[in-house]
Amino acid sequence: MAGIYIHIPFCKSKCFYCDFYSLPTLNYQDRYADAVIREYEKYKHLITDKVYTIYIGGGTPSAISSANLRRIYTHIDDSAVSEATLEVNPEDVTLEHAKLWKNIGFNRISMGIQSLNDDELKSVGRRHSAAQAVNAYYTLREAGFQNLSVDLIYGLPLQTVESWTKSLRKIMDMQPEHLSAYSLSLEAGSRLYAMQLAGKYVPTDDNEVARMYEILEVITAENEMNHYEISNFALPGRESQHNSSYWNNTQYLGLGPGAHSFDGKRRYYNRHSIKDYLAGVPIRETEILSATDNYNDLIVTGLRTAKGLDLKNFPNHERAEILNNSRSWLTSGKLVLEADILHIPSRFWLISDAIIRDTLL
Ligand code: SF4
Repeated sequence: MAGIYIHIPFCKSKCFYCDFYSLPTLNYQDRYADAVIREYEKYKHLITDKVYTIYIGGGTPSAISSANLRRIYTHIDDSAVSEATLEVNPEDVTLEHAKLWKNIGFNRISMGIQSLNDDELKSVGRRHSAAQAVNAYYTLREAGFQNLSVDLIYGLPLQTVESWTKSLRKIMDMQPEHLSAYSLSLEAGSRLYAMQLAGKYVPTDDNEVARMYEILEVITAENEMNHYEISNFALPGRESQHNSSYWNNTQYLGLGPGAHSFDGKRRYYNRHSIKDYLAGVPIRETEILSATDNYNDLIVTGLRTAKGLDLKNFPNHERAEILNNSRSWLTSGKLVLEADILHIPSRFWLISDAIIRDTLL
């Protein structure tokens, strides 16, 4: 099983928390679609397994024309694809667009809603209102999408435990099949980061963020969503197949500036240069992974999932080292070993970075 990720690096404006690679223009979109197809032809041999998932993310893929999305999608689609996801922003969703996306072949939409509170949305420069996001969601349903994922952020400026609870409950009432909920992180290079340095923004207190996370766990569980990865929740059987392939160490091909690929042995990374990309100048860097790098990748991804880390995949020496490194977390109960599976109970996922750091080889 393999996946293909296509990065569309265009956004109409920059959200204040974002450090993703994107440009505030759509001028190059036709040439960009050509460049993606060219890159696919050059590197498709890296994937030897059947491609089951396609994910077009960004940036804002819904900002480019449906004609360009169709050109890219139909070029790489093959009949084995069972999950084809398009990332969209609420302000781009119309019934006409949604029907076109469905007609192209997308069967899953991931929509960045982030909050259902207008003040919070404005505070981070989102271009849509809460009402627009709700309308967009129902428009996608009207167009026939039966697999919708919604992104939310907790720890936003102006957000309180109460307003977070309200947004989350409203989203659960809408019954999406999948929810990605991220704790706001301050990325160097983002506008929010600069605002913090200038004393114009104070990040939400850690205890309040922890409380929001607890509420997230409770409300999603009440709605029978399975918390299957640190930031991801799904109704039974609706887990993201594409993301799961990253966590299961399977092959994936990433196309576009900033995209990553993995052929089972080597990782590839595309430099952030749209100018070179459009001109056909190679932007792909190769990283040969040592056995230790591969094991550490398994640890990082495994411990972020409910399934956990299967120690049977490690030779005896590495297995012993992992258990030795993580002994204090095991003793404290924040890391659990059951039938050779090491896992972090979900209530401790908020501190998983520290646990994983200590466990690495
Ligand atoms: S959060 Fe999404 S829409 Fe906003 S700037 Fe980043 S990539 Fe673009």
